[in-house]
Amino acid sequence: MNNGSINEQLFAFVRPSRTSLAKQYIRQHGLAKIEDLSTETLSHLKTAIASNLSNKVGFLKATSGLGIDKQRLDLIFDNEVHEALEIGGLKYARTEGAATKTWEASGADNCCPDCEEMDGESVPLDSDFSNGCSVAHLHPGCNCETSYQK
Ligand SMILES: [Zn+2]
Ligand SMILES: [Zn+2]
Repeated sequence: MNNGSINEQLFAFVRPSRTSLAKQYIRQHGLAKIEDLSTETLSHLKTAIASNLSNKVGFLKATSGLGIDKQRLDLIFDNEVHEALEIGGLKYARTEGAATKTWEASGADNCCPDCEEMDGESVPLDSDFSNGCSVAHLHPGCNCETSYQK
């Protein structure tokens, strides 16, 4: 075994997962478009999302005392988690050496025309899609996904 492969193994071992990149993204850039909540409330929301990434019930429990209605919390959670996982996925794909990415619309009946139109579009990893997005996240409630190719 030469040093090169040892280093590669070490790198693979310390490489952050898509989930940890998504949590990092939420802590640093999450909820950026919300302007009507205090910095303190936003900070509480970010922590609650990042520590309950795959647990909406846990998130709703952790934020029930903030005085925000449940329907809004629900939307915030879905939107932030989707966006963060998509951006985390892009960063992860970069560490994996992906060359291109493809917009995958959900294929569901309720998929909107704007998302449907993007379905199947492929671009180089560091280019934006033709609609200006870097990952397949177009709007709150968007269920599209980005796939990656080497
Ligand atoms: Zn859509
Ligand atoms: Zn979509």
